[in-house]
Amino acid sequence: MTLSTVHPVRSLHHDVTERPFIVIWEVTRACELACAHCRADAVRERHPRELSTDDGRALLDDLASYGPPRPMVVLTGGDPFERPDLVDLVAHGTSLGLSIALSPSVTPRLSEPALIELRDAGAKAVSLSLDGATAATHDGMRGVPGVFDATIAAARTVHELGLRLQINTTVTAANVTELPAILRLALDAEVTLWSVFFLVPTGRGRLLGTLDALQAEEVLHWLHDISDLVAVKSTEAPHYRRIAIQRAAVDDVEVAFPPGPLRSALRRATGELIAAQRPVPRRPRPPLDVNAGRGFAFIDHLGTVFPSGFLPVPVGSVGDASFSAIYRTSPILRELRDPEALRGRCGRCEFRTVCGGSRSHAYATTGDLLAEDPMCAYEPAPSVTASPADRPVPWSS
Ligand code: SF4
Repeated sequence: MTLSTVHPVRSLHHDVTERPFIVIWEVTRACELACAHCRADAVRERHPRELSTDDGRALLDDLASYGPPRPMVVLTGGDPFERPDLVDLVAHGTSLGLSIALSPSVTPRLSEPALIELRDAGAKAVSLSLDGATAATHDGMRGVPGVFDATIAAARTVHELGLRLQINTTVTAANVTELPAILRLALDAEVTLWSVFFLVPTGRGRLLGTLDALQAEEVLHWLHDISDLVAVKSTEAPHYRRIAIQRAAVDDVEVAFPPGPLRSALRRATGELIAAQRPVPRRPRPPLDVNAGRGFAFIDHLGTVFPSGFLPVPVGSVGDASFSAIYRTSPILRELRDPEALRGRCGRCEFRTVCGGSRSHAYATTGDLLAEDPMCAYEPAPSVTASPADRPVPWSS
C-alpha cells in the first residue's frame, strides 16, 4: 500500500465562489443508447429548444471571459456526437482559450475520422463509460449488445490519436466486484484518469442498486490502495478526500483501517489481475477539493444551470442571465458553498470544509440539499471543528 508523500488533498488557487474549475455542458439529451443508469433519461431525438449554435457560442464566450485560469469545459449528453455543430463548438471554445473535453456515447458516430476532426478542432480529452469488465455486464447496463467491444476499440483509438483518455465507471451493488477487472482494462487502455462514479439514484439510475455506506467506504479505501497504479477520481463520493486525509495521518493504514470482506476481495482480485503485468508505480494523484456548486457546475441542454448533473435543483438559466453571474450570485449555490449550513453528521463533521458530502446523494435520499450524505459511514467526533491542518493546500491546475 502506498501513502502519498504529498498533501493528501489538492485545492485550487483561485476563488471557487467566483469561478468554477470545471463546467459540464449537456449539449443535447439525444442518444442512441438507453443506459440503465442514465442521469439524463436520454431520448432518441434532439429537443427543439436545446441551446442553438449561437447560444452555445455565447455560452463559451462567457466561460472564456473569466480569463486564466479558465474553467475546463466538458461537452456531454445524451451523446454530444448527435450535434452536427460539435466541431464548430469545440473549435470556437478552443479559439477562446478554453480546454474542451468530450464525453460521447459509444455508437457508430464515434468513428476515427470524427475523433480526428474533433482533435484537430482542439478537443483535448475524451471520456468513455465502462461499467463492466465483460460484455454481459457492460452491454446489459447500456441496453445495446456490442457496446463493450466497441468501447474497448474506441479507447484504443482515442489513445492512439493522442487525446487524453478518461474511463468513467458507475459502481453499483451489481458490478462492484468487477472493479479490479475494470481497473485491468483501464490500465491496458493507458487511461489518463479513471473516474469511479458512486451511483446517485436519479434518472433511470433509480432502478439500480447503490452501494451502502460501509461498502462505499471499502471501495474508497481500495481506490486509494490502487492510486499508485492509475490516477483515480471519485465522483459523487467526496468523502474520498476525508479518507485520503485520514490515511495520511496514520503510521500504519492496515492497522488503522483494516480491510473488511469487500475490500479484501477486491485486493485479492487486484493482486491476481496485475501480477503478470504490474505497471510502474506512479505518484498517487491526490483528490481535488471541488464539490457541487463549489468549483463545479452543470448546464443542461436547455441552458438551465444546476450545481451538478445529479442534483436536479435549478439555479438559473443562461437564457436569462450569464452563467458567470448565476454561478456567482445564486443563493442556492452560495448556500452549498457554506460548510456551516450543512446538517446532520456533515454539519458536525471536522472534514466538512474539505468534503461537505455528496449533495446529490443527500438530496436524492432526503429531498434536503444540505442533509448529511447517506453514503458516508463516518461518525464525527462530538463538537469538533476542522483544524486548519486538515484543509488542503493550494494547487494550481
Ligand atoms: S460526514 Fe459528511 S462531511 Fe464528514 S466525511 Fe462524511 S460526507 Fe464528508
